[in-house]
Amino acid sequence: MKTLLLSLFSIGVLVAAEPAKPATEPRPGRALEAPGVRADFLIQPDRKATVTFVEEAGKPAARGDRTVTVKVDGKDVALEAQPNGFVTKEPLPTKEPAQIVVQIRAKADAKPANFRVTLNTSLCGECKRPEYGCTCDH
Ligand SMILES: [Zn+2]
Repeated sequence: MKTLLLSLFSIGVLVAAEPAKPATEPRPGRALEAPGVRADFLIQPDRKATVTFVEEAGKPAARGDRTVTVKVDGKDVALEAQPNGFVTKEPLPTKEPAQIVVQIRAKADAKPANFRVTLNTSLCGECKRPEYGCTCDH
């Protein structure tokens, strides 16, 4: 019985020693945030890009009336609507770096929030994230 109690005690200690999870998980890709806007820009393995709306806790949110436009080097990219955002119909151009502009509107006639993203999928040596979503201060 003493042994059982001891092992239960050590399990308790092990659990307690686990670091507390941060309130919000680090989100993949590039976070697009402005007043009233919270979305993730992510380049998929097939080079199609997604814009996914997220709520406070980082969970995908319904697209609702929001509209998005994406331009690469000034050219409009065709998008397909998804339940939680948009995906590009075609893979992004292979030329890197390129300038991406993502415009998000709360609804079709609202003022857009503009985000500039550099199309660069090489991995950052420091944070190991793709450069377009790098979280280092450089
Ligand atoms: Zn980095």
